[in-house]
Amino acid sequence: MKLHEYQARDLLAQNGVAVTAGRVASTPAEAKAIAAELGGKVVVKAQIHAGGRGKGRLVSESETAAMYEKLTTDPANNSGQVKGDRVGGVRLADTPEEAEQAAAAILGKHLVSIQTGPEGKLVNRVLVAEQTDIAKEYYLAIIIDGAQGSPLIMASAEGGQEIEVVAANNPGAIIREAINPAAGFEPYVGRTLAASLGFSGDQAAQFSAIAEGLYNTLVASDASLVEINPLAVTDDGRVVAVDAKLTIDDNAMFRHKDLAELRDKTEEDPLEVLAQDLGVANFIKLEGNIGCVVNGAGLAMATMDTIKLAGGEPANFLDIGTVNDPQRVVNALKVILEDESVKAILVNIFGGMARVDIIAQGVIMAHEQMKIDVPVVMRLVGTNLAEGEKLVEESGLPLIRAKELAEAAQKAVEAANAA
Ligand code: GDP
Ligand code: MN
Repeated sequence: MKLHEYQARDLLAQNGVAVTAGRVASTPAEAKAIAAELGGKVVVKAQIHAGGRGKGRLVSESETAAMYEKLTTDPANNSGQVKGDRVGGVRLADTPEEAEQAAAAILGKHLVSIQTGPEGKLVNRVLVAEQTDIAKEYYLAIIIDGAQGSPLIMASAEGGQEIEVVAANNPGAIIREAINPAAGFEPYVGRTLAASLGFSGDQAAQFSAIAEGLYNTLVASDASLVEINPLAVTDDGRVVAVDAKLTIDDNAMFRHKDLAELRDKTEEDPLEVLAQDLGVANFIKLEGNIGCVVNGAGLAMATMDTIKLAGGEPANFLDIGTVNDPQRVVNALKVILEDESVKAILVNIFGGMARVDIIAQGVIMAHEQMKIDVPVVMRLVGTNLAEGEKLVEESGLPLIRAKELAEAAQKAVEAANAA
């Protein structure tokens, strides 16, 4: 689960990271009031689940694809300022009135950046934060490094909006330090990183405290990524987080009931949200037109491969899980039928612990409860196959039957093409 910058900043602050003061607003008037509270000089920032906002562009919904094309084809178009004539989703304001104007220009528009994809992201909220006089920008992040099996801190003295370019052209400018999770954050890690980045004296101490807070934030929230870019050194020598990004590992959400309310469903794919709400946990929307209902992630992958081999494109990845609950099948079909691009459905079940007759019952129930106006191909194998086939037979439903997966995929592709 991704958080918005304003939410990530709160978690960082709770864990001892110095962040600039700020609050979220959803109207220009609120933005103006917050700016006044903060003394007038602020930065107004679009809150969306994507980065590259400063260099992004605000457009209406109909213009997002063309803008995305423009930003991604020529790097010259993907340049941004926080003040002046090429401002994007991050704008400096020197008075509450300017903050109000900046918010008015951002809210309700779609922000397109190289990270949003061609749809862009509708901006519903802005963060109004205290403006920083930045002397130098650093990059500081922590991730779970799966290969190492430990948290890994990454930092660079060349932070800011060009960090992707630095990573591509000069990877040596990014330093890495693994943290032993059994020992926790040991002070030498902070000192080593601070020295490598060129910090000394009081700033080294400030940096170390921030690095420790970053680690504590990761642990406290079961995050897979926490990123501060830029971590700024101000003109008066303070080290402070000016931007924040945080992703929580979905598998840990069960023990973060308090963080669940930070979820912004408007940022997620509506079909994936529906699937989660209906208990169909493993659903990922894809670009094709063949809806897949499969039990088991491995079988779901194999099914997608076989559809592609047969010349088709899957509309989704879906693993209904090992459940003997016909309602789960109904719910899976409900999600798939919401997808307008679906032209055929392939039900591919290998009944082990899951029983084929219960899956068949689910498909029949779905036909009773909903209008299923696309062809459904069924391939059933495994436990209680005979009982399942009998149910399908007796239902009299126009289900297309197949014995082998290749045959099933072929029939699904033909059915989709014929539609
Ligand atoms: P991003 O583009 O989505 O990563 O958004 P950021 O919050 O990182 O803002 C982009 C850039 O705007 C930063 O790299 C800074 O250079 C600049 N910026 C953001 N906040 C301030 C601020 O308070 N003062 C100044 N001078 N620049 C800022
Ligand atoms: Mn940033």
